[in-house]
Amino acid sequence: MKAGWEVVIGLEIHCQLATRSKIFSGASTAYGAEPNVQACLVDLGYPGVLPVLNEEAVRMACLFGLAVDATIAPRSVFARKNYFYPDLPKGYQISQYELPIVANGEMRIRGEGGSEKRIGIIRAHLEEDAGKSVHEGLGQYTGVDLNRAGTPLLEIVSAPDLRSAAEAVAYLRRIHSIVRYLGISDGNMQEGSFRCDANVSVRPAGQTTLGTRTELKNLNSFRYIEKAINFEVERQIELIGDGGKVVQETRLYDAARDETRPMRSKEEANDYRYFPDPDLLPVEIDPAWVETLRKSLPELPDAKKERLQKEYGLRPEDAEILIGSRALADYFEALAAATATTPQTAANWVIGELSAALNRDGLDIEQGRISADELAGLLDRIHDQSISGKIAKEVFEAMWAGEGSADRIIQARGLTQITDSSAIDAIVRAVIKAHPAQVAEYRSGKDKLIGFFVGQVMKQSGGKANPEQVNAALRKQLAQT
Ligand code: ADP
Ligand code: MG
Repeated sequence: MKAGWEVVIGLEIHCQLATRSKIFSGASTAYGAEPNVQACLVDLGYPGVLPVLNEEAVRMACLFGLAVDATIAPRSVFARKNYFYPDLPKGYQISQYELPIVANGEMRIRGEGGSEKRIGIIRAHLEEDAGKSVHEGLGQYTGVDLNRAGTPLLEIVSAPDLRSAAEAVAYLRRIHSIVRYLGISDGNMQEGSFRCDANVSVRPAGQTTLGTRTELKNLNSFRYIEKAINFEVERQIELIGDGGKVVQETRLYDAARDETRPMRSKEEANDYRYFPDPDLLPVEIDPAWVETLRKSLPELPDAKKERLQKEYGLRPEDAEILIGSRALADYFEALAAATATTPQTAANWVIGELSAALNRDGLDIEQGRISADELAGLLDRIHDQSISGKIAKEVFEAMWAGEGSADRIIQARGLTQITDSSAIDAIVRAVIKAHPAQVAEYRSGKDKLIGFFVGQVMKQSGGKANPEQVNAALRKQLAQT
């Protein structure tokens, strides 16, 4: 980022709520069905049918509100947002406008430079999703799939408090993990259950008024969001630097070309003519019910992070990774409870080998091939020095491939560490004898060569010699002339 400029970002997140039926009808919300088999008369906007609010969507919105310390409105109102588009047969979207269900929340993230930072959440409102245009396989025609019409969304609007693409991603990730901790959304970005628009502006450092913003659409992965914002920031700074002016407009991010380009400007923007939906009553929420909900909140990422650091002595950066999902943190805790080794070692294995294997095979932690108890069986063999950390990685791979427990693999492959000092002495002697030139160099003061000798001995032993013993034996024998 260029010195002298400040970046300002506000995010609008659309989060699909994990209700079984739609927000105003009984049609299923399941993903991936044949086109138009899950759209009922209400979703299709037929005359004479009436929407009925899904209580589960209200419960989920309130849970989110409580999780971000927001106010739950005792009274909120659904409004019609009017516009014409082929995927919106009613001609209006039911949303909330002046009186959203959730307002004035906040979220804490690690800002630039590592310190804690507060990000305001202006509002979160309930609305229905629209259908989808389909182009694939239809030649010159465009199809319309209305299965998604009426799917409940929670739109979460942040204050313009984010100051870099990295902060925007940190905030987005935290919201993403909160909705999954709460069980109110699957957060699946590929399927569009978690989408985000980024509002971006820049201003000279020190200026208090906000610069003109653009709104970036079509951001469906954390990586693209970061890239799109960075591109847009550079573009705006350059434009202003060249004497130009940022135009308030909607821009589309093109991942293939890594650039944003204009989609529509504010002048062409719709006037949505919002008005309260006469078919729906205001939503009135009993404060006592909200208190019951509050008691049902699970441990949330921030609290979990703090506890993992306190209870297990983990480094903040490791705790941060582990709380990325509830299942990952649960796995770590089960592992730490089952193994004799230190929690930090357990964390290292979960973040290192296990996560790498899961990534490689594109699996979630729930689908992993090694249970926490099984992994504990492996870590205990390192802990009691039966095997070295290096051999353990080989055993891990064999466990992943389904060859059985750590003990069985160590036995079957003869991987038990060599701790017999006479056996180690013999290998050390042979290595010293085989490398007279290096021995001479070492003895003339080139201490660093110890690494070379250790490597040779480990190689001779098939990686099985106890490294500490090898080190000691080498130093002792090399010192003898
Ligand atoms: P709209 O009514 O057009 O949706 P809002 O005022 O509701 O506009 O703001 C939408 C989002 O844009 C919010 O996340 C807000 O933080 C963000 N935002 C508003 N002004 C700016 C700005 N100048 N620069 C960056 N983000 C902004
Ligand atoms: Mg908006």
